[in-house]
Amino acid sequence: MSDLYQAYRSCTLCPRECRVDRTSGRLGICGESAELRIASIEAHFGEEPPISGTHGSGTLFFSGCTLLCSFCQNYQISCFHIGDRTTVEKAADQVADLVKRRGIHNLNLVTPDHFLPHAIDLIQRLRTRGIALPVVFNSSGFEKVELLRQTEEYADIYLPDFKYSDAELAHALSHCRSYPLVALDAIAEMVKQKGFLDHFSEGRAIASRGVLVRHLVLPGQTANSIEALSMLFAEFGPELPLSLMSQYRPARMVKQAELNRPLRPEEFSRVYNHLLELGFKNCFVQHMEGSPEEEDPFLPDFNRERPFKGNLR
Ligand code: SF4
Repeated sequence: MSDLYQAYRSCTLCPRECRVDRTSGRLGICGESAELRIASIEAHFGEEPPISGTHGSGTLFFSGCTLLCSFCQNYQISCFHIGDRTTVEKAADQVADLVKRRGIHNLNLVTPDHFLPHAIDLIQRLRTRGIALPVVFNSSGFEKVELLRQTEEYADIYLPDFKYSDAELAHALSHCRSYPLVALDAIAEMVKQKGFLDHFSEGRAIASRGVLVRHLVLPGQTANSIEALSMLFAEFGPELPLSLMSQYRPARMVKQAELNRPLRPEEFSRVYNHLLELGFKNCFVQHMEGSPEEEDPFLPDFNRERPFKGNLR
């Protein structure tokens, strides 16, 4: 086992710091051993325009997750661990195939933190093959600063969530009271490394570097969203690239009753108006269109061969 993979022996790859030996098959909170498991690799068109572009973002979904939000839109892979055991070499072949067939704009690693050694190995192998796509680290925001320092030479774009300003809500939905402070520190490190997304700072149509922060508005939780935007503004100012998302759909029944319904337009408007009042300048806003009951084409079903209906092009 190379040095890179030693991290699995007493795993502290995320702030949960379970210290289990994943090479022995023991599982921590993320529920994944040291054997790579991937749910999907495909060209994805549901990201923000400078990430998806016209040819798609080469999106690789790792199975498992360190945060395990009760409302997860990808719960089949985060909680039920749908995915195939595979090797880094096979994953590199699949990415190379997407580059050749689809001309993807980037490699988009979704929740790579608990498989970081494999993710780094994959990037190194792709570089050895002459494939030097911008690499997107697409994460929950629940990350350790010292681990981010290790990813600096491999990541080009950071796409973190900032889910919660409210520690008690973070505890109720993700068993993680520390989330607001941990995620703010993580985003600060990301901004220090890469700056703001160059789509905004340099006018690039397809992004190649920088940070874009996402916030998904949850039904019944507008106070959390409003405070989350205020915290981001206080920390990073009006130029911070921000993606405000309305796409929440109840993916499965959860015990928090309000999360079992879609977001209401008036809830989204309240949060959007706050974004405008604060004066954020560089935003993607996913305005609510159609009935909130309609199925989102980018709500995945990982039991399908192509999990995202919106990718069928
Ligand atoms: S990556 Fe998984 S096993 Fe490692 S510390 Fe985080 S939750 Fe625990």
